[in-house]
Amino acid sequence: MTASLIQKKNLIIAGPCSAEDEEQLIQTAMQLAREGKTDILRAGIWKPRTSPGFFEGVGTRALSWLLRAKNESGLPTAVEVATPRHVEDALQFDVDILWIGARTTVNPFSVQQLADALRGTGKTILIKNPVNTDIKLWIGAVERFQKSGITDLGLIHRGFTSYSDSGYRNPPMWQIPIEMKHLYPAIPMIVDPSHICGNRENLHSVVQKSIDLDYDGMMIEVHCSPHLALTDKEQQLMPRELTALLDDIVWKCAVSDDTDFVLQLDYLREQINQVDQELLELIANRMQLSQHIGKLKRATQTTVLQSGRWNEVLQKHLSRAKKLDLGEQFIRQYLEALHMESIRQQNLL
Ligand code: PEP
Ligand code: MN
Repeated sequence: MTASLIQKKNLIIAGPCSAEDEEQLIQTAMQLAREGKTDILRAGIWKPRTSPGFFEGVGTRALSWLLRAKNESGLPTAVEVATPRHVEDALQFDVDILWIGARTTVNPFSVQQLADALRGTGKTILIKNPVNTDIKLWIGAVERFQKSGITDLGLIHRGFTSYSDSGYRNPPMWQIPIEMKHLYPAIPMIVDPSHICGNRENLHSVVQKSIDLDYDGMMIEVHCSPHLALTDKEQQLMPRELTALLDDIVWKCAVSDDTDFVLQLDYLREQINQVDQELLELIANRMQLSQHIGKLKRATQTTVLQSGRWNEVLQKHLSRAKKLDLGEQFIRQYLEALHMESIRQQNLL
């Protein structure tokens, strides 16, 4: 079995949003290869556009350009596939990596068709998060490919559709990919800052955040002449701008062999474990008190929820928390969760 192309720390997948013509694709690929930062060349060939009437990619014709770009630049290639026919065509032109777009991951029928079409091909598949914030669809897609015997999988975090004006094209909602990383620690998590940001200005901060969160790499849109791009013009970088961006990132690693650092970290973590254990025991004690109160209330036929008392507790703790420099929103959520559990426990005995 050949080594995986994606199991590499700080993997860089770069290339145009769309392959537009042979010249544009070859130029972009050659410039990226010369810059020396890119591991894999991406290009959209079939473009899933939210609305009709926009450039929908050149289709199968572009696959021969991509093969030429691969041969001349030496970079392995990646394209988005949405139907079994796309898979068949891409395989004929020796595309190395296939990715599932965000508008496809939402549809279990399409995902299943792709998983069936890819069974036994040994291909590397990258799965973008679904456009909506439903982690189960993302998990479902991983499971469908795994059931088809596909073992070389990666995840791409490209942000989620939102109605609010967050400043992002697709707000990242970092907690969802973090949960996926937790569920699938062996599957690389790759950020797509281009579709999260929708502009060039915020790319750096999103890439830096992904590095801080121990992501494994990025897929980023790069075009030899972004101002002429037929799709996603505002978010594409020139190859040399990608180099500048990467040179400006503070790269971090999840582990260090500096023994002093490791010892200090172990010591602090041990203390945190101890505090967490004590916190749990204290919460359990508190719940036992709640159960006793529940019994008393039942004996005297009084209501479990007494809002006057709860408001008093809330205000007292919020002002204490402020003095202790604890975030108000966090303490509110914590107290509310504690209160809900307390009401549940009062009704238990
Ligand atoms: C793309 O990568 O060009 C693309 C269409 O992305 P997404 O599926 O994340 O919208
Ligand atoms: Mn794009």
